[in-house]
Amino acid sequence: KSGFVAIVGRPNVGKSTLLNTLLKEKIAITSPKPQTTRHRISGILTKDNYQIVFVDTPGMHKGKDLLNKRIDKVAVSTLKDVDSIIFVVDRKKGLAEEHVINYFKGLNIPVYLVINKIDLMKNKSEIDEFIISYLGSYEFAGVYPISAANDENIEFLLNDVVKSL
Ligand code: GDP
Ligand code: MG
Repeated sequence: KSGFVAIVGRPNVGKSTLLNTLLKEKIAITSPKPQTTRHRISGILTKDNYQIVFVDTPGMHKGKDLLNKRIDKVAVSTLKDVDSIIFVVDRKKGLAEEHVINYFKGLNIPVYLVINKIDLMKNKSEIDEFIISYLGSYEFAGVYPISAANDENIEFLLNDVVKSL
């Protein structure tokens, strides 16, 4: 099994931290498949039974308020080309994220909603409320409250991402 997965979200939500935590468990890095030339690879996770190529979405990371602007065509075509999307948010909800969520609607791939930095959230009801605030906007394939920095709950996310490869 193998596939391409984009990690998407506004700056500072913890995308790089999540990627590092995911890759910590890697066994080996092998050379990417030919079509990866279309993607900007940010990491490859290789296990005995699967390989995930994580790709950057150009444009989505650049500029502090990029999510307030229209996402450029490159970013959109990248998202059209991946097998699934990990959408990372943290406890500060950005209204501008709705623009990105709207782009998800045209794609026919699983989008996993990752609530990062739960270690900074006071209690479960704060986490629940935050999750609920996203649920009306899109039919996410799953919701994962995690702490990327503390390697908390990452395995549930990874399991589901692998399942849908
Ligand atoms: P990116 O811009 O989305 O790639 O975000 P980074 O991975 O660079 O993280 C932004 C900041 O959030 C850094 O200071 C990280 O240490 C911090 N951070 C990331 N994940 C967590 C987490 O689970 N808990 C806490 N408390 N901080 C985190
Ligand atoms: Mg980053």
